[in-house]
This record gives sequence, C-alpha cells and structure tokens, in this order.
Amino acid sequence: MTSDQPYETLDPQNWDEMRALAHRMVDDAITYLETLRERPVWQPIPDEITAKFDVPVPHEPIGAEATYEEFKKTIMPYQMGNTHPRFWGWYMGNGTVFGALAELMAATMNPNLGGGNHIANNVEKQVVDWVKEMIGFPDDASGLLVSGGSMANFVGLAVARNTKAGFDVREQGMGAAPQKLTVYASVEVHSCNQKAIELLGMGTANFRKIPVKGDYTIDLDALKQAIKSDREAGYQPIAIVGNAGTINTGAIDDLNALADICKQEDLWFHIDGAIGAVAVLAENVNPKLKGIERANSVALDLHKWMHMPIEVGCAIIRSEKAHRDTFSLTPEYLAHETRGIAAGNIWFNDYGLQLSRNFRALKVWMSIKEHGLDRFGRMMARNVEQAHYFGQLVEKDSKMELLAPIGLDIVCFRFNPGGMDEDALNALNKEILMQLHEKGIAAPSYTTLGKTYCLRIAISNHRSTFEDFDLLAREVVRLGNEIVSEK
Ligand SMILES: *Cc1c(COP(=O)(O)O)cnc(C)c1O
Repeated sequence: MTSDQPYETLDPQNWDEMRALAHRMVDDAITYLETLRERPVWQPIPDEITAKFDVPVPHEPIGAEATYEEFKKTIMPYQMGNTHPRFWGWYMGNGTVFGALAELMAATMNPNLGGGNHIANNVEKQVVDWVKEMIGFPDDASGLLVSGGSMANFVGLAVARNTKAGFDVREQGMGAAPQKLTVYASVEVHSCNQKAIELLGMGTANFRKIPVKGDYTIDLDALKQAIKSDREAGYQPIAIVGNAGTINTGAIDDLNALADICKQEDLWFHIDGAIGAVAVLAENVNPKLKGIERANSVALDLHKWMHMPIEVGCAIIRSEKAHRDTFSLTPEYLAHETRGIAAGNIWFNDYGLQLSRNFRALKVWMSIKEHGLDRFGRMMARNVEQAHYFGQLVEKDSKMELLAPIGLDIVCFRFNPGGMDEDALNALNKEILMQLHEKGIAAPSYTTLGKTYCLRIAISNHRSTFEDFDLLAREVVRLGNEIVSEK
C-alpha cells in the first residue's frame, strides 16, 4: 500500500489541533457550569433549531471543529435545565464539574466492564462495596452498577422471581408456573417496578397495589390482608417492594415492618430506594430508613440525590449466589481464563443483563473521593431543610397551600386564592407551571394527588440556595395573581 494520503483511521489527522480544540471544549464546559445561574432554567427550542435535527445522514466529514461549533449553537443552549440551581422537576440530580471530567476520562480509557483482567472492574467492585457499606449490607453481598433505578429494580425483581418461584424459571419459563406469582407494593410505587413485573412475565394483574395511609406510606394491615386473601385464593406471593422515598411525595414505607412481614410470610424483600436509599448519609433522614439493611435486594440511584452524571444506579443483592444464579451464563467465547486479559475474578456480566458495560464506576469513584461521603450527606440534609423552609413559605401565604405532607425533599403545593372550584384551580396551577418553565424562572414539575393537580418540587439540587425558594414562592403568587386578573 503506497499513497500520499495519511493512513486512514478515526484518530485526528492533526493532534495539535485536536488538543487545542479539546482545551477549548473543557474551558467552555467549565464556564457553562460556572455561569448556570445567569441563564434561564430552560428555554423553548426555536423551530429553526428543531429543523436542524431532521436532515439526512452526512456521508462526508465536516471535521471536529465545525461539528463542535454546531453543537455549541444548536445543542448546548437547549438543555433540560437539571444542572440549574432552580430545577426541581421530577427527581433528578445536577451532575458535578469533576463528574463530567471523570466521564471524559472513562470514555478515554473506554474499557468494557463485562469482565476480564483490568482495573476498571476493581473500580466498580470498590464502588459497589462502598454502596453496600453505606446501606449496612454485609461484605459478602453482591451488586453491580446499572443505568439507573429502573434497571436496578429490574435486577432485584428478576432475582426475587427466580429465587422464590419454586421452579426453575430459567429452564422452564413462566408458562410452567403452577400458581400465579404475586408481588406487593403500595399504590405509590414507581412505574418502573410494574414494567419489570410485566417484562418478567408475572403480569400487571398479579402486581398488587396496596393503599397508603395519610402519610403516603403503605397500609400494613391492608398488605397483610391482601397476602392472606391471595394465599387462600391459590396465588403464590413471592415479594414485597418497599419504597424508600416515593416519587410523588418522598414517603418512606415502614421498612422494618415490611422486613418483619417478609420474614413471617417467607417473601423476598426488595426496596426501591432510587430516591431515598442514599439518604442514609443525611442525619435528618437516616433514622427513617431503619430496616433497609434487612432487605434481600435494594435498588438505588447515584444520578439523583448523589448528583453523579446520568446514567448510574446500583443494584445490591444480599445473596451473591441468588444473584449469580439469575444472570450467569458463560458460553465458551466468554470462558474465564487464569492468565492474560480474559483472567480476573470479577465478571459483571454474570450479574446483569448487559455484556458490554461502560466505565460508569469511574465517575462514582472519583466523585466520592473528591468530596468524601459526608459532604453528600450534608447536601441532602440541606435539601430536606429547604423543603421544610419552602413549606413554611407556602403555609404563611394565604394564597398558597400544601397538598401533601412534606416527605424528604419533595413538596406538593398549589396557588389557591380562594373562591375557585377544583377544575379552575387545576387549570390555573397548570398555567402557572407552564409560565415558570417558559419564562425560565424555575422548573418545578407536577403530579396529581386524588383529583388535585399539584405543583411539585423535588429538591435534589446541591446548587439551590434558600433565596431560590423565596423567589419561587414570590413568582408563583405573582404569576397566579396575574393570570387570575387577566381572566
Ligand atoms: C427515578 C425513580 C426510578 C427510576 O429510576 P431511573 O434512574 O430513572 O431509571 C425508580 N423509582 C423511583 C422511586 C424513582 O424516583
């Protein structure tokens, strides 16, 4: 092969130019994060920008420089907003500066954490061990990092099903079940658990949604009654899903009581701790999580209240054997060797659905080392204080009202000037929310409790100050008054 052209690879043709561009990109990233507060939380995407994402695939190169310029113009300004100090929608984390840099390093090394003899696996194992230690699980418990809470719940429920089914689900499939397997959770359980139940072939009809009490925690008597009736009717109860922080109101079920019921009834105890499990680190939440250490499996998120860049969650399973028995399958092309790259005794693909797995562990390892765990705990504790602070602002104002008890860092409230019926109030509050978003002021989200439309803030935000909540309270009332007077 002779040619005047450089040998073609995907590497830069000019490394110095790429280095200069990379420096600019890092600079831009830091400036972007340093100046978040000066920009709107969110802004609508103009049509001419949307149109740029409806074009044919490019076959010829435009190069890194031009691509980056296009990114800066057409992508970077139209962010979701969850990095901003006044983003409190759904339940998200902010990310961090060093976390973003860690992502760059992880992609630079680009290892595959399916298994093998390389250090990235040790990093993930270290991180999983740290999580086990945090939530009080024994050293010999198992676990792996996954994309987020949804996948972590799926992993936990898959192990629960296979362990408790009483027949070999892997070999025979769910068609062989002599009885219908049932799983229990409160009506407030996150929808991803239902998706998992469906995909695991158990069927929504066998996912019992138990009523909650006034504090939105599961009604234990109703739960016991449901298990009893199911047994009498010939069903086979296998698991209870406890909530450690519900998505609507942040309620934490009585985990010790659920652990007791699981023990009495010989059920698997799974906890969806996507929101709240990491709050074992916060001194004003920790006591409410007692009993988490008794679960058979825990799903938690590190990209929510721990602010790791999305995606990263963690599934922890008490029994390593049960975990491996559910997911391990080693064909000859993945045989574990004793020497070389195919050696090593950490093969995460034996514990989850994915074979190729990214190095999401690095951002967790780097972030926890950067800040130390205790700082994360203080950030969470402050968010809880901010929720109560905002709750007081709502209660002090005659035109606002709280709509649910404040759970963790979640406040459900609305503007209510009096003299309006429910439908009108629902429409009014929805309009307030739209204007808060569209004007880039703040980003609460919404939920419906009963028939009541709520503005909802979930304050998993390490950047929010107390003044940000003063501003929110002021703006809700200002917009509310304005919309009412325009009618
Ligand atoms: C967010 C959330 C999930 C899903 O987690 P993802 O990381 O979004 O996949 C599950 N359960 C609860 C309670 C959640 O808040």
